[in-house]
Amino acid sequence: MSKVEVLGINFDNYSLEQFKNKLISRIDSRLSTFIVTANPEIVMLAQKDKRFLKIINSKADIVTADGIGIVLAGKMQKTPINERVTGYDLFVWLLHVANLRKLKVYLIGAKPEVIQAVKNKIDSEYSNIELVGYEDGYFTDDLDKVANRIAAKKPDMVFAAIGFPRQEQLLSILRKNNLPAIMMGVGGSFDVFSGKTKRAPLIFQKAHLEWFYRLLKEPTRFKRMLVLPQFVLEVRRNKKQK
Ligand code: UDP
Repeated sequence: MSKVEVLGINFDNYSLEQFKNKLISRIDSRLSTFIVTANPEIVMLAQKDKRFLKIINSKADIVTADGIGIVLAGKMQKTPINERVTGYDLFVWLLHVANLRKLKVYLIGAKPEVIQAVKNKIDSEYSNIELVGYEDGYFTDDLDKVANRIAAKKPDMVFAAIGFPRQEQLLSILRKNNLPAIMMGVGGSFDVFSGKTKRAPLIFQKAHLEWFYRLLKEPTRFKRMLVLPQFVLEVRRNKKQK
C-alpha cells in the first residue's frame, strides 16, 4: 500500500479512480470502512491533539489528501502525492453508488434547515437511496448514544457533517464496533450539497484557489485560515530536521 507521511499523518497515496475502486470492493465485501479526508487544518489539529492523531492513524481505513496544501506538502518533501481527493467529491460519488445499489444511508450534521434540504434533494434526485436516518448536528446527546442510534438503523453508509474532530470521534466509535458501512466525515459538505453555500466556481477550483474563494465569501474564516501558512512552515521545518 502506498503511503505518504505528512507531519505524522499517514496519507493513502492513490488517485480518485483508485480510491473509488478500493471503495467499491470494500462495499462488495461489506467491510467496515472509516474514511478521513484530511486537510491542513486537520493535520495541524492532530499535532496538538494526540487522541485525534491516533484516531486518524490507527482507526481510519483510508486517509485522503483533502486540499492542495497537502499535495504541496508532498511536493516539498519530495514524496509526491497523486492528487487531491476531497470529501465533497467522494460524498457525491458515494451517493451515486448508494442510489445505483439501493443502499441504506444515514446522515447526521449541519443546521436543521440544511439537513432537511439535503433530505429533500436526496428524495428527489437519488430516489433509490433508503434514507434510514437524518438529523441535524446540534444534538446534546453524547457521542456513544448517537453512535448507538445510528448503528440501530443498520446503514450501509454514514456521513457525518458536524465539524472535525467530533465527526471523526463519532465515526471511530462505529468503526470500533465494526459497523459494516462506509463512514466518512464530510465537514461543510451538507451546506454545499443543499445549496446553502456555493462551492467555488470551476475556475477557482482548477487554479487551486478554492480556499481563496471561500475566504472572499466568508471573511470570518480568516482566523481559521491562518493555519495554512503555519502548516507550510511546519512542513518546511520538519523537512529540515530530517
Ligand atoms: N456543525 C454541526 N454541529 C456543530 C458544529 C458544526 O452540525 O456543533 C456543522 C456546521 O453546520 C457545518 C459543518 O458542521 O455544516 C462544519 O462546517 P465547516 O465549514 O466548519 O467544516 P469544514 O468543511 O471546514 O471542515
